[in-house]
Amino acid sequence: MSFIEIKNAKYSYNEGTASEVRAVNDISLNIEEGEFVALVGHNGSGKSTIAKLLNGLVLPQQGTVSVNGMLTADKRNLFDIRKTLGVVFQNPDNQMVATIIEDDIAFGPENIGVLPDDIRQRVDWALKSVGMYDYRGGTPFRLSGGQKQRVAIAGVLALKPRVMVLDESTSMLDPVGRNEVMRVVETLNKKEKMTVIMITHFMEEALLADRIVVLDKGKILLEGGREIFEHREAIERAGLDIPIVMKVRDKLAQMGMEISRDIKDADALVEELCR
Ligand code: ADP
Ligand code: MG
Repeated sequence: MSFIEIKNAKYSYNEGTASEVRAVNDISLNIEEGEFVALVGHNGSGKSTIAKLLNGLVLPQQGTVSVNGMLTADKRNLFDIRKTLGVVFQNPDNQMVATIIEDDIAFGPENIGVLPDDIRQRVDWALKSVGMYDYRGGTPFRLSGGQKQRVAIAGVLALKPRVMVLDESTSMLDPVGRNEVMRVVETLNKKEKMTVIMITHFMEEALLADRIVVLDKGKILLEGGREIFEHREAIERAGLDIPIVMKVRDKLAQMGMEISRDIKDADALVEELCR
C-alpha cells in the first residue's frame, strides 16, 4: 500500500443540483513517503479540491482517499490524518488565528499536544526557515501577501507533518521570495525526508519535483518526470506553459546537441552545455 492513495476519487460541488461542478473526476494517484510531487493545472482543474480531499476537508463522493493507511472517510482518522499531512491553503488570510505571529505559529503544535519547550523550538525553527523570525512579535494582519504566505507555511512547518501540501503557496511572492521558499521546501524534502506535494502554476517550480502530475478538468492528463514537458501540445492545450529551460533545451537538441531531458533549472542546463 502506498503512503498516500487516491483511488478513483470523485468530488462535485453542489452534487445532484443544476449547478453541480465536477471538480475531481475519477482520479487515482499514489504517492510514496519522501516523494516530491508537483501538481499543476489550469485554474479550475481541481488542484485545490485534491488538497481538501487529502486532509479530509471534503470527502470523496465516490472512491477513497487514504493517508498512511487511514481512510479520510472515517471521522475517527481525521485528527491523525491532519497531524500527518499538513496543508498550506491558497488564501493565507483564512489561516491566521492569533494577533501575534509567534502565537499564531504556536497554535497548531499546542492543538496536537506538543510540549511547551518543544513548541518554543518549533516556532523559532519554522519562522527562521521561512525568513520571518524577525517579525515574530508583530501582528500578522499588517504583513504583505508574500509575508503572510511565509507565515502560513511556517504554521504548517511547526506541526512537523510527514507530508506537506502547498497550494500555490508562492503565488504572492516575488521571484526572489519564491526562490527562497522553494529552497526551504527542497531542503525539507531532501534533508528531512518530508513528503512534499506542491501545487503550483509556475512550471519552473514543477521542474524541481521528482514527479509532475498535470491536471485538466478534474482528470489526470499526464504524469511523470521532467520529460513530460515533451508532450508540448497536450500541455499547451491544458493551458500551461512549457518551462523556459525546457524550450531552450529543445531548441539546442534540434540543432543537434545531445542534452539530457532531465533538466531541473538553468544551472543544470549550463552544466550540461559545459560538458
Ligand atoms: P484549482 O485549484 O485547480 O483552481 P479548484 O479545485 O479550486 O481548482 O476548483 C475546481 C472546480 O470546482 C472549479 O470549476 C471551481 O470553480 C469549482 N469550485 C471550487 N470550489 C467551489 C465551491 N466552494 N463551490 C462551487 N464550486 C467550486
Ligand atoms: Mg486552487
